[in-house]
Amino acid sequence: MTAPLRLRLDGQALTDNWRTLARMSGRAACGAAIKADGYGLGAIGVAIRLADAGCRDFFVATWAEAAALASLALPVSVLHGVREEDMALALTGVARPVLNTAAQVARWKAAGGGACDVMIDTGMNRLGLSVDALGLLEGLRVDTLMSHLACADEDSVMNARQLAAFAALAGRTRARRLSLANSAGVALGSDYAFDLTRPGLALYGGIPRAEMRDLLAQVAMPEAQVLQRRRVSAGDTVGYNATWTAARQTEVAILNIGYADGYFRGFSDAGSAGGGRFPVIGRVSMDLVALDVTAAPMAEGDWVALDYALPEAAALSGMSQYELLTGLGARFERRWISATV
Ligand SMILES: *Cc1c(COP(=O)(O)O)cnc(C)c1O
Repeated sequence: MTAPLRLRLDGQALTDNWRTLARMSGRAACGAAIKADGYGLGAIGVAIRLADAGCRDFFVATWAEAAALASLALPVSVLHGVREEDMALALTGVARPVLNTAAQVARWKAAGGGACDVMIDTGMNRLGLSVDALGLLEGLRVDTLMSHLACADEDSVMNARQLAAFAALAGRTRARRLSLANSAGVALGSDYAFDLTRPGLALYGGIPRAEMRDLLAQVAMPEAQVLQRRRVSAGDTVGYNATWTAARQTEVAILNIGYADGYFRGFSDAGSAGGGRFPVIGRVSMDLVALDVTAAPMAEGDWVALDYALPEAAALSGMSQYELLTGLGARFERRWISATV
């Protein structure tokens, strides 16, 4: 298989990021959110490397995601809990459900399900049982009691409020562990770590808070092959809707990547490649991008690295760092470059 676009994945950066987050988590264990196919990188490749580094707690959203990891036999929790349709698979023990609702709790109890996790809502009002529903947990074997921070990437009063609400649960259940912090929560300080942290974004080089900027390395680097090189004259336009007009004679390379690959239209006239040397010109198409390569020789068949440092790329494209990762499409050949595994 020879795809004309590839995602270079730095396994050393991934495991270094995990070790950094584990260190910042203090005495708490450091898990890994690998939902959405490992935030677009490929959940199996991510999980193998993190398990090798010592990670023992993995989080996915759905049972299909858990089933895809079954061959690795890792401890996986399914954040969306169990629907009736999930029960047959859930009872095989392939993963633990994170029970979110009274109906999920009842379903798991009625089936005599084993160890589970439980999500408590402490103010985000997304998933989870309310604090005053703790009584429902009687009779469940709860491994991890967790909650999720709504605003950990900001300095919001919500953080301390959720921390207090969650800390007040300590000792009120027979849960083996407590877990609150996502990536940004890890940077909020040791109070937020409890027994287990659950970073996702930061593992993959995303920077959710400024404090983490110099601590984490880029993991995913999209590259694409030049499909055609052309010379355009002053006054000519490039791409859909002719939004870019050459001010002078310009050498243009057309790359095998587009918004269908997650190189979103927000990069039109804004993104770059080759460490800033080659600006994106005109509209990003579904499958193609044009670069100004006047600055360097660049021939049909050459490979070019798109600039994809997540905070900068997010600012340029208007997408979140999460969207830039999870949008990375199926057409990439995913190629791990370091020799750690
Ligand atoms: C996605 C998710 C995480 C990881 O969040 P990041 O911001 O990517 O670190 C942790 N916990 C829960 C419940 C999640 O849904």
